[in-house]
Amino acid sequence: MYNVWLLKSEEYALEKYWQVLNLLQGFPGPLRFYSTEDPVNYTDGEIDLLDYEEDIFKRQKEVNFLSEVNACYHSEPKIPIVSWSTLFNKAENFRKRRDLGNTEFVIVLTDLSNEYNWFIGGDPSGKKNMFVHTAFWEYFSGSDQRYPVAYHIVSGILKNLTFQNYNELQQHLHKQPKGCFADFCIDKQEVHLKLRTADICKDCLALMEARKVPKSVIVQTLQVFEGIRTQMLFKSRWPVTPELPKMHIIGRSKQIVFPELGNLEVGLTPLEKTIYLFYLNHPEGIKINELHDYNAELLSIYSALYTGSDLASVGSNIANLCSPLSNSASEKISKIKSKFNNALGKEMTENYCIIGENAEKKRIKIRLVERTTDELAIYG
Ligand SMILES: [Zn+2]
Repeated sequence: MYNVWLLKSEEYALEKYWQVLNLLQGFPGPLRFYSTEDPVNYTDGEIDLLDYEEDIFKRQKEVNFLSEVNACYHSEPKIPIVSWSTLFNKAENFRKRRDLGNTEFVIVLTDLSNEYNWFIGGDPSGKKNMFVHTAFWEYFSGSDQRYPVAYHIVSGILKNLTFQNYNELQQHLHKQPKGCFADFCIDKQEVHLKLRTADICKDCLALMEARKVPKSVIVQTLQVFEGIRTQMLFKSRWPVTPELPKMHIIGRSKQIVFPELGNLEVGLTPLEKTIYLFYLNHPEGIKINELHDYNAELLSIYSALYTGSDLASVGSNIANLCSPLSNSASEKISKIKSKFNNALGKEMTENYCIIGENAEKKRIKIRLVERTTDELAIYG
C-alpha cells in the first residue's frame, strides 16, 4: 500500500482539485489517494516575479496565457514563480505535521510556475515529495486539465519507484517519443501523445521487473492511463459519433457513474441528487411551481439519501425545495447542470441535465434502459 497525499496550492481551483481526486479515486489499487484540508500557502518572499522575456518561458509557450495568472498576483507583465526547494519544503512540512512514513507520497498541485518550468518534479533528496504543475494544460492538449494532471501524478509515482535518482531517470527517458510514459516531453503539446497511447514500453516494463516495482502498482497505473485515454477519446469523438454513454445509478447512495467514460462519477449533494432522481422518475416533465404536489415523493427520496443527524432539517429542506417562494429548486437544477457540464462537456450535458424554460415543464432527455435490481438502474 502506498498512501498518496494530494496538496492543493492556494491558487489551484478547488473544483479542479476535486476533479483530479475523483478521477484517481475511481481506480482502486495499492496507490490510495487522499485529499487534505490544509492548503499550501506562500509568503511574499517565496514568490519571485520573473520577466515575460525569459527564454525558459518562451520555450513552453506559456507567454500567451500569462495574463490570467498575473491578474491574481501582479499587474506588471511578470510571471510569479516558486523555487523547487519551496515546493518540496511545503510537502516536507506536511509530512512532518502528519507524521507520515517514508513510503507515503506527498504531491503539491500548483498553478504557479517553478524555477525550471517543469511540468512535474520529484524531490532531489530522494524523499517521496513531488509537485505537478496544474496550469495551462487546457490550452496545450486540447482537453481538460484533470487528464494530464492525473496522468502526471501516477506516472511520477511510478518513476519514483523505478528510478533511484535524476541521473538514472535522465538516462532512461526516451528522447525520441514512443508513446511511453517515460517519453521526454519539452512541450506540453507533446504530452498529448503519451495520454493517447496510455502505454509503458517493454524496455521500461523490463526495468520495472528488474527493480521489483510491485506489479499491482504497474497494473493500477495502466488502468488509470487507460481510463484517461478512454474518457479523452470518447469526448473527442463525440462530435463525429454522437453515441450517448450509459449512465448508471448505483447502490443505496445512488452514485451517478459512467462506466464507458472510465467510471467517471458526477458527484451531486443529497438535495441535488434528490431533485435529479425525481426528474428521472418523471420523464413526462413537471413544472417547478408544481413541485409542492410531489412533496411526499421528494421527501422519500431525500430521506433515503440523507446522512446527517438533524432529522428536522430533512422536512424543512424539502419544504424549501418545493416552495414556489424559494429559488432552491432552480438553484439546484443549475448546479446539477454545471456539474454534468464539468464532467461531460457542454455537448453531451444537454442529454443528462434537467432542461426546460423556467415557467415550462422541466424534464431529462435520457430514459431508463434497464433496472436490474434495487442496486442498479441504467439510463441512456
Ligand atoms: Zn519506455
